[in-house]
Amino acid sequence: MGSMSDSLKINLTILPEEGLRLTFSKDAAWFKECFSEDDRPEFSLVKADVNCLITRSGDTIYVRGELAASISQDCDRCLEKTTIPIGGDFAYTLVPEKTEIAEELELTADELETSHYRGDFIDLAPMICEQIVLQVPMKILCAGDCKGLCPHCGKNLNTGSCNCRSDVVDDRLAVLKKFRVKN
Ligand SMILES: [Zn+2]
Ligand SMILES: [Zn+2]
Repeated sequence: MGSMSDSLKINLTILPEEGLRLTFSKDAAWFKECFSEDDRPEFSLVKADVNCLITRSGDTIYVRGELAASISQDCDRCLEKTTIPIGGDFAYTLVPEKTEIAEELELTADELETSHYRGDFIDLAPMICEQIVLQVPMKILCAGDCKGLCPHCGKNLNTGSCNCRSDVVDDRLAVLKKFRVKN
């Protein structure tokens, strides 16, 4: 499939009996285009490597794979741009969309974990984007021991200390530490 670099749409009519193994990489520009401006995440993708296997059983399509990526965002403490690795395994089950029935049935838990496809194609792009978003931790730090910014002068304390009164700074940090333990 020569068009794989442009599109992650898979033609199910030519899916081999033994399944289709795909290995591909995606970059920042691709990730950005997956979202409208309003929905775009705060972080940016540096690179995503995906290895997945697409199989079918009757009308049901299974997508299983591994994601290894790195993302870039400002550190939550010192605000310096930092890059962290993310990744994990993922699995999707897709069944054909049946609009008439879906509207009348209440969704069971099982159905909520099942995605739908329409026609003879599935698009891997929304699944890969979703996995990237899900794997990003709530808190992003440049280092586990990032000292953050001085609450008075704003100096990045990773690069050295400032001249603010240390007793005041210590008080504030003690309060912050109590909060952070609970996170
Ligand atoms: Zn930091
Ligand atoms: Zn200071």
